Amino acid sequence: MSIVVQKYGGSSVSDAEAIKRVARRIVETQRAGHSVCVVVSAMGDTTDELMDLAEQVTPAPPARELDMLLTSGERISMALVAMAIAHLGAEARSFTGSQAGVITDDAHGAARIIDVTPGRIKSALGAGHIAIVAGFQGVSQTTKDITTLGRGGSDTTAVALAAALEADVCEIYTDVDGVFTADPRVLPSARKLDVLSMEEMLDLAANGSKILHLRCVEYARRYGIPIHVRSSWSQKAGTWIKDNPYEGEGAVEAPIIAGIAHDRSEAKITIVGVPDRVGVAATIFGAIAESGINIDMIVQNVSAAETAKTDISFTLPQADGARGMQVLQSIKHDVAYEDLRLDDKIGKIALVGAGMKSHPGVSAKFFGALAQAGINIEMISTSEIRVSAVTRAEQLDDAVRAVHTAFGLDSSDEAIVYGGTGR
Ligand code: ASP
Ligand code: MG
Repeated sequence: MSIVVQKYGGSSVSDAEAIKRVARRIVETQRAGHSVCVVVSAMGDTTDELMDLAEQVTPAPPARELDMLLTSGERISMALVAMAIAHLGAEARSFTGSQAGVITDDAHGAARIIDVTPGRIKSALGAGHIAIVAGFQGVSQTTKDITTLGRGGSDTTAVALAAALEADVCEIYTDVDGVFTADPRVLPSARKLDVLSMEEMLDLAANGSKILHLRCVEYARRYGIPIHVRSSWSQKAGTWIKDNPYEGEGAVEAPIIAGIAHDRSEAKITIVGVPDRVGVAATIFGAIAESGINIDMIVQNVSAAETAKTDISFTLPQADGARGMQVLQSIKHDVAYEDLRLDDKIGKIALVGAGMKSHPGVSAKFFGALAQAGINIEMISTSEIRVSAVTRAEQLDDAVRAVHTAFGLDSSDEAIVYGGTGR
């Protein structure tokens, strides 16, 4: 029998009615002859509400206790989904991440999965039961404490279980019909994609697309698990994400552009008047790395010959902005720069497509579209399959619209957003 792993996001299980609807879909899948393992997220905006609650109790909740609190959200969903399935006359058993064998390191709030030992899930499936697993959580191998995988982590739970169970597919159910050429909440003319390569999805997720957790895509690529992103509100086929969809049997030609991602969660730090000498960048980025801050784009030019000084700018998560500034202040003496600036009003747009590799003129068209829309570009970065630019945050939606139109991605049908607040 084939094993299917299905993951239902928060908006798909937002209330009792939604839970009953999802339960029907799960039971139908089992009746169609599959072994079904389901991963659920917390209902609606529960995780945000639990975070708010913790912050009302203390501005700095201990990480271990925050994880205890947040994992309760997924446990509510898993038990309710199991009950709704029982009501339909099928057998379901719910399991916490720990019971499902999701073993992690001990980094509370951002734990990494180091092993999955799904013995209890296999027994449940073997007995003909539907297994329901609480997403986004595991148990630390060393401390045995409950951990969370980071916001949006239920996608990663689903793919990790799909890999451990050797499932045929990991279906991710969400509140839109699949992966779109741009966020349909920003751009209703965005078009649903039928297929996408793992590397395109990785670039979209890394550049702000919230449809899938970045680590879920990394995991799926490593273990060769095909992902089918689709809506839990409709029976339409969604978007298939797999290795090399543009090669071999059933291949379609790689589109020049797959889609556009945007991100408003970053900040930019500029180090002004940096002496142009060997080792300066190593000192700066060494100190930033040591503090555990993840940086994204970096821009530096050769110094103007007369001054022998240059500016270095880089982007980092907004939440790390203040700490990044502190780190740089602490090395001011070593680096001997003139000034530091923090700007958290930036937006990032990224154009992604595997066909870009072999097509000239993509960057020119991208910059042309931004220019015509009157949008100034502050930073640029590229890879083989991506062009991205930093703009003012308030111009970001206009930038997405302009580039989407310039590349002929607009659809005449309006994209449907079935639920969720997009929070
Ligand atoms: N409930 C968690 C969150 O809101 C995990 C998830 O939904 O994937 O981030
Ligand atoms: Mg999600």
